Amino acid sequence: MRVIDHIKAAKDTLISFEVLPPLKGKGIGALYNHLDPLMAFKPSFINVTYHRSEHVFKKNADGSFQKVVVRKRPGTESICAAIMNKYNVDTVPHLICGGFGINETEDALINLHYLGIDNVLVLRGDAAKNETAFEPEPGGHKYAVDLLKQVVNLNSGIYLEEELRDTHRTKFCIGVAGYPEKHFEAPNMDSDLQNLKKKVEAGADYIITQMFFDNAKFFAFEKACRAIGITVPIIPGLKPVTSKKQLTMLPKTFFIDLPAELSNEILKCKTDEDVEKVGTKWLLMQSKELKKSGVPVLHYYTLGRPHVVANVVKEL
Ligand code: FAD
Repeated sequence: MRVIDHIKAAKDTLISFEVLPPLKGKGIGALYNHLDPLMAFKPSFINVTYHRSEHVFKKNADGSFQKVVVRKRPGTESICAAIMNKYNVDTVPHLICGGFGINETEDALINLHYLGIDNVLVLRGDAAKNETAFEPEPGGHKYAVDLLKQVVNLNSGIYLEEELRDTHRTKFCIGVAGYPEKHFEAPNMDSDLQNLKKKVEAGADYIITQMFFDNAKFFAFEKACRAIGITVPIIPGLKPVTSKKQLTMLPKTFFIDLPAELSNEILKCKTDEDVEKVGTKWLLMQSKELKKSGVPVLHYYTLGRPHVVANVVKEL
């Protein structure tokens, strides 16, 4: 079932989770162990992130170095199919522009369609580790909106080959990313919101936000979206803080702020177990307030901490 249809049919706020594919060499069992305790909460859908290849330097026997391409977390599409098969739940694979030519994108979408996956979250992706700024593949998409238009075309039966017009139509429900604290490359919030609006006008069905720890920022973002005519559902993305090092890591990686009230509480903690307690309480407080405000879905980035998310959802 499509995410948008879950939202339309819902009488209350829904729950969804986001997981990472296992590290290469780990096997899928670790992911099932991660998901098992969360399935009791009947998530409406589960997102699976996409991780592009990286260039790494491998030392040869003679001491020289060789540049090799590795993918640490492959398998997004097949993991979605495996989760659907095991738990009978809808899945949302993340699809990025980075590292993909348009033909590979089309093949990936056709594969997803054959697997019975009707949802995608379309993203640009970040710059590769060896690049200073995002570089599309030759002939690939530069922005998420361009990838989105390719998905919309397939939904209209338009494939890349000229002679394939008005043929079999896919029915992907398309999600896009939004940033309550602005995307780090955007010169200002207004231009970022206008670019978000372009994604919605091109056919996005809903928005999922970057994580945030201050609900006021989400509410302001939602209000600003509505003010410029974005009417699609906006789903808040939520994550628990579980360690002291995240106080610096989260702002550095995701370009977000942690409110002083939260960071002060974390600084008082002696162990990461104490931080987890503070993070759980904070996430519960955020979730309750967002639910009360009528958000369509609470989307949890579970990232290795399923028990924390489970404790919060149980309390809700
Ligand atoms: P875009 O919408 O293309 O925006 C990128 C930047 O370009 C923004 O600053 C925007 O304002 C600007 N822009 C957009 N359109 C235009 C235009 N037409 N002209 C000029 N400027 C424009 N990354 C992964 O690699 N894998 C994942 O699985 C993944 N999952 C994510 C899930 C969520 C919910 C979120 C919020 C992010 C996720 N990311 C993931 C990270 C994401 O790929 C990065 O944040 C990336 O830098 C931007 O992606 P985007 O889709 O928002 O890009």
